[in-house]
Amino acid sequence: MHSRFHTAFAGLSQPLQTALAPLLENDRFPAMLTAEQSQQLQRQCGLSEDELAFALLPLAAAYAETPISHFNVGAIARGVSGNLWFGANMEYPGIALQQTVHAEQSAITHAWMGGETALRAITVNYTPCGHCRQFMNELNSGLDLHIHLPGRAAATLKDYLPDAFGPRDLDIKTTIFDAEDHGFALQGDELSQRAIAAANRSHAPYTQSPCGVALELRDGTILTGSYAENAAFNPSLPPLQAALNLVILKGYAFADIQRALLAELPDGNISQWAPTVSTLNGLGCQNVDRVLLA
Ligand SMILES: [Zn+2]
Repeated sequence: MHSRFHTAFAGLSQPLQTALAPLLENDRFPAMLTAEQSQQLQRQCGLSEDELAFALLPLAAAYAETPISHFNVGAIARGVSGNLWFGANMEYPGIALQQTVHAEQSAITHAWMGGETALRAITVNYTPCGHCRQFMNELNSGLDLHIHLPGRAAATLKDYLPDAFGPRDLDIKTTIFDAEDHGFALQGDELSQRAIAAANRSHAPYTQSPCGVALELRDGTILTGSYAENAAFNPSLPPLQAALNLVILKGYAFADIQRALLAELPDGNISQWAPTVSTLNGLGCQNVDRVLLA
C-alpha cells in the first residue's frame, strides 16, 4: 500500500478496511474504482453508493499535495458508468497559486481523461468554492449534477450556483464530457502522438485554441492532459494541470517526469507554452518541448 494511505486507511471502518485491502495492495492503485468494484464493496460493507462515496473521501483526500495550505480536500466523481474517480487538491511549491488544482477539478478531470461520458454526482468533504462551482457548470451534466457533502441534504449544482452564467449563455453547444475531436493528424513519436490526441479531445470553444500535454515518466509510462476551458475564463484548467493531476493520482511523483510535450496551434488566440515551461521547470523538469498542431 502506498504510504500516503496509511493514516486514512487506519481510520476506515473494519469491514471497509478488509474489503479495500486487496485493491490497495498495489503501489499503483489507480485512484478509481470500477463499477464492479464499487458494487462489490457496497455488498461487502452493507453500504449504499452514497455511503460508500462518503466513506472513501479520506482516501481521496490522502492524494492532496498541499505544501502551501496544508488543507486537504478529497472529492469523488461518480460517472454514468458507475465508476468512482478520486481527486484531491494539488498545489505546487514556488509556483503561482493560479496554477493549483482544486479537488473537484481533480476528480472531474480524472474521470474525463479516463473516458467517462458524463457525471451523475460528486461527493466532496468541504463545500465547493465559487471557482469549482463555475468549473462544474461547464460539464454536460449542467446544473443537474448532484453534489453530496457530509452532513448536508443532497443537492444539485443549481442549488449551489443560483443565477448561473455558463456555456449555454454564450450559445456553446458542446461541453466537457461530450465527445470532441478537433481532428489534427497524429504525427511524430509516441509522446508527440499522445499530446496531439489529448489536444484533439480538449474543450476550447472560447479561444478556439485546442491543446494537450503528454508527460513521459521515468518508467516509460505516458500520462496526458487535455485543456478544459470555461465560460468564465479563469476557472479553465490548463492541459499541464490535467496531466500533473494524473501523475499524483496514478502513484507517481513530479520528480518522475522525464520529458514533456505540449501540442498547440502555431498561431492560436492563446498559448500555453510559457506557463507550461515555467511550471514544469519549477517542478524540476527541464526537458519540455512543443509540437505544433497542423
Ligand atoms: Zn474549489
